[in-house]
Amino acid sequence: MHDSPKKSPLSVGRVLCSIFGHRFIVTKKVTAHIKEYECACCGKQVTIDVKGNLASLTPQLKEINETLAMLHQKKLAQTHHHPAA
Ligand SMILES: [Zn+2]
Repeated sequence: MHDSPKKSPLSVGRVLCSIFGHRFIVTKKVTAHIKEYECACCGKQVTIDVKGNLASLTPQLKEINETLAMLHQKKLAQTHHHPAA
């Protein structure tokens, strides 16, 4: 059972990634600090989680990011005039 069906043409990219590391490009800006990335080589999707760590982009994290992005947009809309401290 060695010849598994070639469903992923990206396996070469994966090998390269395991040697050289991923080449992440930003796919979505969530907030000033949080972005979603995708590897240009193998297509792996990651994001920065709330703790600042690079994490695999799971459906849950995607949802969290969407919520964060929404809050971030609201915040931006409110920063027009902030009270003088
Ligand atoms: Zn990669």
